[in-house]
Amino acid sequence: MMALFEKAPAKINLSLDVLSKREDNYHNIEMVMTTIDLSDRIKLYELKQDRIEISLESRFVPSDERNLAFKAAYALKQIYGIRAGVHINIEKNIPVSAGLGGGSTDAAAVLRGLNRLWSLGIPNDELARLGSTIGTDVPFCIYGKTGIAKGRGEIIEPLPSPPPCWVVLAKPDIGVSSKTIFQRIIINELAHPQTNKIIQALRENDFQKLCIHSGNSLESITVELYPEVQRIKEAMRQSGAQGVLMSGSGPTVYGLVEQESKARRIYNGMRGFCEEVYYVRLLG
Ligand code: ATP
Repeated sequence: MMALFEKAPAKINLSLDVLSKREDNYHNIEMVMTTIDLSDRIKLYELKQDRIEISLESRFVPSDERNLAFKAAYALKQIYGIRAGVHINIEKNIPVSAGLGGGSTDAAAVLRGLNRLWSLGIPNDELARLGSTIGTDVPFCIYGKTGIAKGRGEIIEPLPSPPPCWVVLAKPDIGVSSKTIFQRIIINELAHPQTNKIIQALRENDFQKLCIHSGNSLESITVELYPEVQRIKEAMRQSGAQGVLMSGSGPTVYGLVEQESKARRIYNGMRGFCEEVYYVRLLG
């Protein structure tokens, strides 16, 4: 039986801007994102029977057709008329409903992995297009690294990686539904990050500038619902992290740190505030 592994890294938002509401009820967004070394592990086993199976150990994620990994495999099979089946095992390491794109990266990894397993030779642009029907962050996760997502997430342009650094992540013990946050958007009241300054900082490889300009339009909405996100931000800042920001629609807060020893100190300190804390490298 053929089997293969695919790594599914989480993403953080260096910026998230909501520009307008569209007629199809989605929002036009601009998000600069980069991948981090906190990954789910996807194992794909070829099945002779024409079916999709999912196995995973998580209280928070369904192992049926609601799983984004299932949806990805299903869409690929439908569009390319594939009769073979697959068993998808997901080792879930990325916190769920956290703003780190966990479901999207699993779906993207399944698309990349099945493209290899079934020798389909589909170009990434095509996988990204297919992925956009599954979730907003799937197209970005197809390419990974660092990039900007535009439109409703389906237009991806690559960007230079941020300067190498460590990321401390703190996730309060709550799950945030992106849908709930997006429903509460009042466009005229949103603060907007200066996305062009963030892009410039990446092009100039300027860590300080990146930290100063990172910003997230959704932060104020999530903070209003979950004030502890603000408390975690303050604790992270006081402990010396830079570029402290909420990722996605939250609730995970991250801070960037140049030296590993300092990142470890901040990680240890943050564990007093929050149960789920990580420190990882940027993959960029
Ligand atoms: P987003 O910002 O896109 O909502 P997120 O990181 O905040 O991403 P996810 O971890 O992707 O949130 O999970 C969001 C929802 O998707 C949860 O309700 C979860 O049950 C569901 N879900 C479906 N498939 C998966 C998967 N493979 N991994 C994680 N969540 C999944």
